[in-house]
Amino acid sequence: MTRICPACAAQNALDARFCNQCGCTLPIAQAASPGSFSARHPILIAGLLMILVVVFLGTDWWLWRHRSRALDGAPVAAEPEPAAQPVRIATPLRPTVQALCADRSNFITRNYCMDRQCRKPENGRDPDCVKILADEKERNNRFSPG
Ligand SMILES: [Zn+2]
Repeated sequence: MTRICPACAAQNALDARFCNQCGCTLPIAQAASPGSFSARHPILIAGLLMILVVVFLGTDWWLWRHRSRALDGAPVAAEPEPAAQPVRIATPLRPTVQALCADRSNFITRNYCMDRQCRKPENGRDPDCVKILADEKERNNRFSPG
């Protein structure tokens, strides 16, 4: 492969910077392709370089970590898991009405107890009380004339 002088069309050596026929300056970039691969795909090249750097650094870090572990005599194992945080369950401030009346012996007295507990204003928001009071209201509406 030779360089063709643009001025006199003489063939020159590939690394020649001046034409040996006419002495004019030969263009430096006279490659066959209009642009080098990296010039046409700069993002691709940058991405590949970044991947290489990451792989290199990662391998280096991995080797360093294992070597330092081996020197310490410690077994090469996964990092110890951080202690699991105890799951905090929101506990109600006061026992439910059902809990308050759990010691009642049977269904009727338990219902009576719950009914009585639900009349207390501090138990009004208890889910059982909401249901009981709603049922009671419905009963009253159903049976009251008008
Ligand atoms: Zn020439």
